[in-house]
Amino acid sequence: MPDELSLQLPPFNGSIVRVSILYAGRMEIPTAMMLQPQIPGHDIVDAPIYSFLVENDKVGKKLMYDLGMMKDWEERQAPPIRNQMQSANVTVDIPSDVVDILKSASVPLSSINSILWSHHHADHTGDPSLFPPTTSIIVGPGFKSNRQTYPGYPDNPDAHTVQDAFEGRDLIELDFDASPLKVCGLRAIDWFEDDSFYILEALGHTSDHIMALARTSEDRFLLLAGDAAHHVGEFRPTPLLPLPEFIRPSPFGAPRSVIACPGSIFEQIHPCSHSHDSGSFRTTPFYEPLSVINSDPATARVTLEALKVFDASPDVLVILAHDPSLRDILEFYPEGDLTGWERQDGQPNSKEAGTWRFLRDFGTKDIQELVKAQQKTE
Ligand SMILES: [Zn+2]
Ligand SMILES: [Zn+2]
Repeated sequence: MPDELSLQLPPFNGSIVRVSILYAGRMEIPTAMMLQPQIPGHDIVDAPIYSFLVENDKVGKKLMYDLGMMKDWEERQAPPIRNQMQSANVTVDIPSDVVDILKSASVPLSSINSILWSHHHADHTGDPSLFPPTTSIIVGPGFKSNRQTYPGYPDNPDAHTVQDAFEGRDLIELDFDASPLKVCGLRAIDWFEDDSFYILEALGHTSDHIMALARTSEDRFLLLAGDAAHHVGEFRPTPLLPLPEFIRPSPFGAPRSVIACPGSIFEQIHPCSHSHDSGSFRTTPFYEPLSVINSDPATARVTLEALKVFDASPDVLVILAHDPSLRDILEFYPEGDLTGWERQDGQPNSKEAGTWRFLRDFGTKDIQELVKAQQKTE
């Protein structure tokens, strides 16, 4: 691993942000459309749609990181988007969108200064036309000069965005050339200029993809990782974060139960078990992304390597835009916020409770039986 990929986080400057996670719907996507190799029993990816409210009280600013999906996407999105979703057999369910949730919490939309899009895909861009013109949109590099992203549909028939998102408001394209900062090898912008919230250049899934690193206390961070990966099995386990001998809490138990299950039971479904290198199942991710889901697969791999380093730090909780393994671990807005995710209260914190929970996706009958036979109370 290159030297620059060590996690050297910028020093605390007295400022933090409060981050809340919004549950903005859910998709089901055939696993074979996104991930390889096939793992028995995991044919459908359960893909919740998350959005994040980020508040910096010191500077008096609020922004949304991603807006989920607009409710009436079938009527208003460009034909290529609808066709893609249909041909991929994706199902979508949005009982409440981001605007419904903000309104239910009595948050005036005019108090949201900016919408930061992790990238231009329709399950992230939401419906900015519902926000007042004072809410700006912040986008990744090259957005305004890419026909696929700007202008939007229907003005531009090739667009994967919708033009009314941009009407009457500022569209701010991030310029990483203008910032000397790097975090974990990725170019970074200190958005509020107080070391509380860094926007990271994280290309590959698309040419405008960004992540955000939010400081939630002096030395703890959330990494809002967008679609840098589509399943945490793409970056767990690794030599930096190996699959433990005993996984506690068991991924098949209650989120913070004391039951443990042996890591060895996952060897049989790990792709390594079919190779000469079967011993590496504890340090090799379960999945690789299919190259078709990334516009630049080589660059997406560079981003994924950085993600592994963030993920291995106990000080950073990584949240993908569609990670179902955290759904029953985290407290969703408006009931709670993510600040204090590292708190223990005598129990595993959110990261400890959630890290191996994705393994329940691989709960075939064989695995379930092994679990029953071998799990133990520590
Ligand atoms: Zn995407
Ligand atoms: Zn997505």
